[in-house]
Amino acid sequence: MENRTAGYFAQYAVPQEVISFVDRPIGHYIGGVEVHTTGDQIDVIEPFTGERLTGVVNGTLSDVDLAVNSARSALAGPWGKMAPLERQRLILRLAEAMSADADFLSHLEAIDVGKAISEARSIDVAGAIANLEYFAGWTSKLDGRTTNAVALAGETLMYTVKEPVGVVAAIVPWNFPLQILSWKLAAALACGCTIVCKPSEQTPLSAMRVAQLASFVGFPAGVINIVNGFGHVIGQALAAHRGVDKLSFTGSTPVGKAVGKTSLDTMKRLTLELGGKSPVIVTSKADLDRAADAILAGVFLNSGQVCDAGSRVYVHKSVHAELIHKLRAGAESLPIGAGLDPTARITPLVSSAHRNKVLDHISSAQAEGAALVTGEVSVPSQRVDGILRPTIFDNCSDKMRIFREEIFGPVLGVSQFDTIDEAVERANTGDFGLAAAIYSQNIDETIQLSRRLKAGNIYINAHGLLDPAMPFGGLGESGFGKDMGPEQLDGFLSTKSIYVQVANPSATE
Ligand code: NAD
Repeated sequence: MENRTAGYFAQYAVPQEVISFVDRPIGHYIGGVEVHTTGDQIDVIEPFTGERLTGVVNGTLSDVDLAVNSARSALAGPWGKMAPLERQRLILRLAEAMSADADFLSHLEAIDVGKAISEARSIDVAGAIANLEYFAGWTSKLDGRTTNAVALAGETLMYTVKEPVGVVAAIVPWNFPLQILSWKLAAALACGCTIVCKPSEQTPLSAMRVAQLASFVGFPAGVINIVNGFGHVIGQALAAHRGVDKLSFTGSTPVGKAVGKTSLDTMKRLTLELGGKSPVIVTSKADLDRAADAILAGVFLNSGQVCDAGSRVYVHKSVHAELIHKLRAGAESLPIGAGLDPTARITPLVSSAHRNKVLDHISSAQAEGAALVTGEVSVPSQRVDGILRPTIFDNCSDKMRIFREEIFGPVLGVSQFDTIDEAVERANTGDFGLAAAIYSQNIDETIQLSRRLKAGNIYINAHGLLDPAMPFGGLGESGFGKDMGPEQLDGFLSTKSIYVQVANPSATE
């Protein structure tokens, strides 16, 4: 471990067991053990110090074969034969182990992603545990149905059974590595599938820890496998692999389209959770204090690296000035600091390359005529350790890049509207459809707006709420299929229809 990183960890008393877990070459997790198939490593960078944190194995196609074969064997082994209630207990044991390990996992997310450790604890780790607990309950409730024939003559018994789709490949991004892994893992395990997960090469740590915990609590070898490496190698190979039955991908829209096309060659079941550019409508009837707080939380969570960030605000002209005032005051009061700083809310972005992309958006907003209200200006000397200050632009137009493209950083754009119809039309422009938020104290107005907005997730007087019982997923360029909620289960189950022709009793007498 390099000097600055060691000093940073000492300053925040990172537990020695976390340091020992990280400060070594990280391998794959296949067949119930960590394996190192090659010494070739990809650098993993600590976002606050910008130094090399560790190295993760640069996986190859044969590693993918190994992991998929391991997952296939596990389907045929004790896992495939396990009674649902036993499977349910095992998933709950993993959730309990993660609860006991919450401090460890929170540290991993804070040093791998650079995110605020308080958010890692209360959102990432707590959310992942809740997903496992919720889906554990579904394990014992995956019933088929019986039905009566409506067209067939004679007597026919007709029923369906639900069976696991088989081997699931989960490709996960870097912004919520643990939580998004849990979206895939919990439902796959509940449905009796086995899983091969490919974390982002930038953030492989928490997935490796979860796989290790799963072995500790008694998951049979091969049920949960992690293959590390670059997306265009490992992710692509999983999408193309004949031994994978279902691909659940979360990431950017262009990569999602590419893996989607590849996976259709082998007729995989497919879920694509992709990017977004979520609109926010603030009407003249909004409680502006409440709206400002929720808007700031919705766009600056995880320093803006959130798929459903509400990054373009349409505010009624009558309340525009007051909202801008409140947004500015709120943004300027957000505590800035290192990921491990327990008081920080705005922390370094995941990498310098990503930071540069966000800075490019900031420069383009200025060049296109948006008015800077507060925040980052493109002056390198004002940057602190990879952190971008919460940035707000006013007077944005729908043609500006800041209003059309996903930024994935702490940048908010604001524009005024005259009529609700105009706000709806402008909010619905663009090809994404992940989320939208509405701020109004008039219940009729909120319900009407919720039906008119083109998005898979609508938040009213809030932003970014997530609950394992509610499906999450987008429309249009934001993808298809759902994570979480009972709606997710069908993506991991095959429905088999069984017909029993009942002979006429007189014919058998
Ligand atoms: P990304 O698309 O670059 O990478 C996502 C994953 O795909 C990573 O594991 C990566 O290694 C892998 N990958 C990259 N190239 C690949 C290829 N050619 N074939 C197969 N796999 C490949 O996305 P990212 O930068 O890690 O994450 C940010 C994006 O994820 C944003 O667009 C964000 O909106 C989206 N996201 C969506 C949701 C959602 O639920 N809709 C949630 C979180 C993030």
